[in-house]
Amino acid sequence: MRIDLHTHSNRSDGTDSPTELVRNAVEVAHLDVVALTDHDATTGWDEAQGEADRQGIRLVKGIEISTRYQGESVHLLGYEFDPTHAGLLAELQRVLDGRDNRLPTVLEKLAEHGVHITLEDVAAQSGDAAASGRPHIADAMVAKGYIRHRDEAFNGWLNTGGRAYVDRYSAPLFTAVELVKDAGGRTVVAHPWSRGSDRVLTADAFGRLQDAGLDGIEVDHTDHGERARRELRAIATDLDLVVTGSSDYHGTGKSEAFRLGANLTHPDQLARLLPT
Ligand code: AMP
Ligand code: ZN
Ligand code: FE
Ligand code: FE
Repeated sequence: MRIDLHTHSNRSDGTDSPTELVRNAVEVAHLDVVALTDHDATTGWDEAQGEADRQGIRLVKGIEISTRYQGESVHLLGYEFDPTHAGLLAELQRVLDGRDNRLPTVLEKLAEHGVHITLEDVAAQSGDAAASGRPHIADAMVAKGYIRHRDEAFNGWLNTGGRAYVDRYSAPLFTAVELVKDAGGRTVVAHPWSRGSDRVLTADAFGRLQDAGLDGIEVDHTDHGERARRELRAIATDLDLVVTGSSDYHGTGKSEAFRLGANLTHPDQLARLLPT
């Protein structure tokens, strides 16, 4: 059983449509189970389910919520929750609005540095996405010839502290866990030790998150080296949290290290996370 529990479509900042993503999950990565976890949006679920039914693959309906904990950005995966839960929807809308609302300021900052991108240029890249994120701004920079690849925009321009960085709203981490749980779902901290969050996501913090309803930790992720994986696995085992592994696939928006199926979740762990 090949199980990948974290992927993005063009309903957030991936490059495959939900249909293409599910097709690639079957034809390219030979997955048996794939979760669609777009940033702060569930708008790809229906299309993905339609293709999953045609392909005979199991789709797990998910999301990756942008949260903050002690000043650090933390991504929270939510699975199989009620997408109409009012409190959760309101919180997700705040995140999506924050992403869109910072855009004019980002573009002003870029212009101060000689990079001239319009709101229309970004909209042309975000297309079907629920909001325009930094990757779409990066894509507009590529389209206008300022850089060659999306990644270059995160090297001095859009990354935290970069020349055109503008902060935006993120949901408080504990609030996000509680909302997904209240909506009947399961929660897993995504790539907990990538980019600075290792400072705040200690074993003690995972214990308190578990008390708030956290179900699991995404241990096997390309952003984690061998040592991080070993230590996170020990924390999960100690607390009896579910261990997941996933690709964080973004189509051509991320490198081959994030290809579909690059990291997998053990079937026993999926059975614990989402009993059928
Ligand atoms: P946003 O939510 O609009 O602030 O954009 C965050 C998204 O940008 C993340 O979910 C990643 O997909 C992407 N991203 C953030 N930092 C980097 C980075 N250093 N390199 C490449 N992509 C990144
Ligand atoms: Zn992303
Ligand atoms: Fe993430
Ligand atoms: Fe992701």
